[in-house]
Amino acid sequence: MSIHEGKNLPRPTPETQPFWDAAREHRLLIQQCADCNTHQFYPRSYCTNCGSGNLDWVEADGRATIVSYSVIDRPVSKAYSDPNSAILALVKLTEGPQMMTNIVDCDPADIAIGDPVTVVFEDWTDEISIVKFKRQEG
Ligand SMILES: [Zn+2]
Repeated sequence: MSIHEGKNLPRPTPETQPFWDAAREHRLLIQQCADCNTHQFYPRSYCTNCGSGNLDWVEADGRATIVSYSVIDRPVSKAYSDPNSAILALVKLTEGPQMMTNIVDCDPADIAIGDPVTVVFEDWTDEISIVKFKRQEG
């Protein structure tokens, strides 16, 4: 039995499929507007800054900073009782967009707003890998 059994699997849509395809290859893709250069996440059909539909997929550098976080003491179900689901965080990518994620391999007592983090990928199935982050060392 996989530790990911019982979790809600994301369902890729035509809009999000490139993100999930890249995540499966352990690459973090975000959108960038070809007209105004703004980066955005989550994937959308139009640029949130200028409304253009002329969006490219670009690889993020994988670094971010913790904007806020919460420690989940009582998971919603047993499926989420693993330590790597315990810290829910909002992180700001180097490129600007923010993501909801988990901080993994981290004692909740050691975490702080402003901590630098790096992307990691958790393989839930052959098709779905989840984007998470871990604290940068040093
Ligand atoms: Zn734009």
